[in-house]
Amino acid sequence: MSFPTSLRAAVPLVFFALVLLLPQLGVPPFWITLLSYVGLYSIVALGLVLLTGVAGLTSFGQAAFVGIGAYTTAYLTTQYALSPWIGLLAGVAITGVSALLIGAVTMRISGHYLPLSTIAWGLSLYYLFGNLEVLGKHDGLGGIPSIWLGSVEFSNGPSMYVLIWIVAILALLSVQNFLNSRAGRAVRALKFGQVMPEAMGVDTARMKIVIFVYAAILAGISGWLYAHLQHAVNPTPFGLKYGIDYLLMVVVGGAGYVWGALLGAGLITLLGNFLQEWLPGVLGTGGNFEAVVFGIALVIFLQYANEGLWPFIQARLGNRSPVRAPDDAPALAHASKPAAGEVILEVEAARKQFGGLVAVNDVSFSVKAGEVVGLIGPNGAGKSTTFNLVTGVLSITSGRVDYRGKSIAGLSSREIASRGIARTFQHVRLVPGMTVLENAAMGAFRRGDFSPQGGILAGILRANRKEEAKILAEARRQLERVGLGDMLYRQAGSLALGQQRILEIARALCCDPALLLLDEPAAGLRLKEKQALSALLAKLRGEGMAVLLVEHDMDFVMQLTDHIVVMEFGTKIAEGTPAQIQVHPAVLEAYLGGAQ
Ligand code: ADP
Ligand code: MG
Repeated sequence: MSFPTSLRAAVPLVFFALVLLLPQLGVPPFWITLLSYVGLYSIVALGLVLLTGVAGLTSFGQAAFVGIGAYTTAYLTTQYALSPWIGLLAGVAITGVSALLIGAVTMRISGHYLPLSTIAWGLSLYYLFGNLEVLGKHDGLGGIPSIWLGSVEFSNGPSMYVLIWIVAILALLSVQNFLNSRAGRAVRALKFGQVMPEAMGVDTARMKIVIFVYAAILAGISGWLYAHLQHAVNPTPFGLKYGIDYLLMVVVGGAGYVWGALLGAGLITLLGNFLQEWLPGVLGTGGNFEAVVFGIALVIFLQYANEGLWPFIQARLGNRSPVRAPDDAPALAHASKPAAGEVILEVEAARKQFGGLVAVNDVSFSVKAGEVVGLIGPNGAGKSTTFNLVTGVLSITSGRVDYRGKSIAGLSSREIASRGIARTFQHVRLVPGMTVLENAAMGAFRRGDFSPQGGILAGILRANRKEEAKILAEARRQLERVGLGDMLYRQAGSLALGQQRILEIARALCCDPALLLLDEPAAGLRLKEKQALSALLAKLRGEGMAVLLVEHDMDFVMQLTDHIVVMEFGTKIAEGTPAQIQVHPAVLEAYLGGAQ
């Protein structure tokens, strides 16, 4: 069974309405309380979806941020009789600042050390709560007042339930909006490495801190609600065990999906409650046996179903309709382009040494607007290294790289991208689960209406609609330009390799470049795909684009390029037109002579 598309869009609305109306439908208080907790946990889990599921940054420490939110409001409302709303503002501020400080240090840590560090600060904060005299040590703080809104008091179970779920729904919408924004697309790419987003102009280190703070603030808000639901706080629910439970919720529910957070929070809460009552009876002795069951479940899910359960439900519901490009929208601002024939890239005596090895030995060449230049040479000649010097992936040892008359040596790939140099990758780097349109739109990251930082809040609040329309229209325009106009809404991962390479070119074109750098664009392509690629590059050249390509395939290079630079052992051994290169003695020697 699956829903007709017209009804599919109404499913979330019906769900929200049903959830908010439950207390009116005569659901017993026990269930309302339990579902309040599901709401509280969902808010935290939504942050983890962003952090862990989408960006690939595992955190065991979210419970500690819940604690900061809860203790802040508990302290301010009981010790100073301040309003819970002040408690909320202060809680969000303190959680945000703590996350900023912790994130600035830990988000630079890679691999398994990041999760380990989250355990470390999760534990430290937990012990801090339990040992501070002003926070009541292990007894915590009691007598926390109810939240008031005008003359309405959120005093009892059902009223708090409704408030909690309103916040949970808003949290879900905020995360969903964010993920569909320019910054959100960048975050969705983080899991696949930093090189590609950096080359699109994304400050990946800053972006990681942003989502870390975002996730922490959601946790802090959950803590605020918790404190005013319970009217008391103590350190226990903010310890490492709960940090692990939150992670379990998103892993079981589906870490990559916002709805996975709600599903996981629901399942784990209900299952935990059931196991807590049932297991001691079966085993004949008391204890927290559900922790053991959860531990086993976590391992099983990570091993066999790391997408979680949500995809199964989504398959039943039918897929959401993809984000669409508007039919027409104002164009994004364009940078001025050089006149045809103008030298735009000048590499002068560029040198790169890796220890004693000279990978690029004082190489010089230039590229003009409206020209395709090929960089060829046997394996290990230094082509990729030269490419990386121009794109800022490697730092230059000595020599100059000038783009449109200005030095770009020593700039990061992010800064180079914003100057107007766009690139594709030898091994295609796309976000496979994103549509063709969204992948291409990533190239326009630097071209939005807002600054990349200002755009984040606008994205969360959906104040970015005009910007999104322009960006998506640009992505569609570039996709049509390269001939992928009829595949806008396919998943990038489902395309053939040749199409993926062309999609990378469309993404690069969305950067509004005057120079395109392509690393082995023809590798692995079938003949037809090569011909299509070659025709596309010739067309771009005709439009005034400068193209520098590193390539192995001789036929491809000879029939496409205007100018060829040949390297061997790090040194430029020849340079000229394809006709000149084909008969150049040093080139023939390098390719045919010697050991070959
Ligand atoms: P090509 O792309 O022409 O096949 P590369 O530019 O990848 O050649 O490599 C040129 C030389 O530099 C090779 O000898 C390679 O082993 C060496 N090299 C490339 N990258 C590094 C690195 N990061 N560290 C040390 N040596 C490297
Ligand atoms: Mg190479």
